[in-house]
Amino acid sequence: MSDTDEEVMSSTATADSESVAADSESVPADADDTGVVTDDERTMDTTDDTEDADSVAGDVVDTADTDVDADRETPLEVEGLRKTFGGIVAVDEVSFDVEAGTLTGLIGPNGAGKSTTFNLITGMLEPDTGTVRFNGEDITGLQPYEIANRGLARTFQIARELEEMTVLENMMLAPKGQSGEALWRSVLPVTREAVEREETAQLERVWEVLDFFEIDHLAEEYAGNLSGGQRKLLEMARALLTDPDMLLLDEPFAGVNPSLEKRLLEHIHELREEGYTFLIVEHDMDLIMNNCERVIVLHQGRVLKDGTPAAIRESEDVIEAYLGGEV
Ligand code: ADP
Ligand code: MG
Repeated sequence: MSDTDEEVMSSTATADSESVAADSESVPADADDTGVVTDDERTMDTTDDTEDADSVAGDVVDTADTDVDADRETPLEVEGLRKTFGGIVAVDEVSFDVEAGTLTGLIGPNGAGKSTTFNLITGMLEPDTGTVRFNGEDITGLQPYEIANRGLARTFQIARELEEMTVLENMMLAPKGQSGEALWRSVLPVTREAVEREETAQLERVWEVLDFFEIDHLAEEYAGNLSGGQRKLLEMARALLTDPDMLLLDEPFAGVNPSLEKRLLEHIHELREEGYTFLIVEHDMDLIMNNCERVIVLHQGRVLKDGTPAAIRESEDVIEAYLGGEV
């Protein structure tokens, strides 16, 4: 942990740290479950719309492949991305756009190149060729934090050292908090007052986001004690703290129980309605088909199909790629 991190934490967390530490031994084994609710949530009716769209699938199949709705903004534009690892072509001339305010799914069988594409977009890997544009700006080859600072956020798994911190501390150390803070400190003569003001604002935002994801009651819980699903909520909450326009999620539902999966999906739909854009990388085809209005199918490093769920469902190529199993 850097000095900056510790400074941020010390002023926000020390007051409680002793009592937290004192409690740590006695955190009940079933603390995991306290956040897992509920069956009362409204059902999402987005799938109904999708089903309706099926009836015009004939038209959609022909046009959806290449056409981007002309009057819809495309914050993310990926063009000709290619990445090789030794002799393996992991991503091969991949091009697609993501339209503003959509849930777009990136699916494909194991080894299709989904995670590599995700890493190329978020700056974890640099492409051999091709470009990534975000909000009209070429962001190819930028560092992950530079990309995050431009409003394109990704989720990070809670690292081991963060497991030993509380949910609240994890939130105070959210990715942009670090880089933004460091940058800010380096260019401004910082007064104690300014730091306090900044931290108060951040703390308010933290509680707002914790409340939104319904994990505010877990604020003092150690991240390491959270269930798989609660972790995913925390990961998304941390990503949201960077004030992104768009979120990239790599397999956000892996290891999540069905009731939390439903809740996560509801949060995603809610955020989409607020104007956020999502690109969700998933191998679970049904989940993507039922929740995304736009689906890009990767196969052997290439875009096999790009269109509405209805168009994807009808594609012989896609059915073949998945060996007919999941479609
Ligand atoms: P997916 O996420 O769709 O399962 P990946 O993007 O992880 O697929 O992998 C695509 C291909 O690239 C696979 O053949 C994989 O073995 C290979 N690959 C991915 N990352 C690396 C790496 N760091 N080194 C070598 N090969 C890799
Ligand atoms: Mg993967």
